[in-house]
Amino acid sequence: MVPVPRIERREALHYMGWHGAALDDALLGQMDRAEQQLTENVRPHLIARRFSLRNGCPDGTEYVPGGSDICELLAECHSVILMAATLGEAADRLIRRSMLQGGSQGFILDAAASAMIEAVCNAWENGLRKHVREENGYLTDRFSPGYGDMPLEDGRKICNILETGKKIGLTVSASNIMLPQKSVTALIGISDKIQKHRPAPCEVCSARGTCALAEGRNHR
Ligand code: SF4
Repeated sequence: MVPVPRIERREALHYMGWHGAALDDALLGQMDRAEQQLTENVRPHLIARRFSLRNGCPDGTEYVPGGSDICELLAECHSVILMAATLGEAADRLIRRSMLQGGSQGFILDAAASAMIEAVCNAWENGLRKHVREENGYLTDRFSPGYGDMPLEDGRKICNILETGKKIGLTVSASNIMLPQKSVTALIGISDKIQKHRPAPCEVCSARGTCALAEGRNHR
């Protein structure tokens, strides 16, 4: 199990389709409640394995990462890490139960849970970055199936290599739905050269000038 992280509020709001509008106390209160419900109930798990890269593929596996975008991302890398993380079934149950009760709390819980699994992955990635810097290495961006031209099927291939079903209770359905639903699979490359990164959402956001939660601003 990995620690339950704090949720990035703006991340949860983005999952609700918010784009910088003013926030009322009622909504903020519901978000606090959602985070508390999740923190009290979920047990996040994460598994990761590092591979040397041979011809753009994790050495010792038959896995060929799908699409051209991932090949470009790994072009300067000597190693790749395959990772998978999940909030577990408790999160799905909590959301389902709340949705059945009606009202907006289920929707807010769903968005908060999406933000929480992202926070789990971000915390892991920050720790990895420190570790890799100690060996004078640099990370690429985290890249998941469904990003760019990478097929969703790659999620199943990553789960099979990592044996996520047995090790963290994460499986992928025939239609490429991850179960439990609040789960992530991804690849991240390691290079000896500094890597270009995607701009942070706030850097390229049209609402930046007026948004109360814009990165770098003091907010509640
Ligand atoms: S400025 Fe940042 S927090 Fe605000 S809406 Fe844009 S991306 Fe979201």
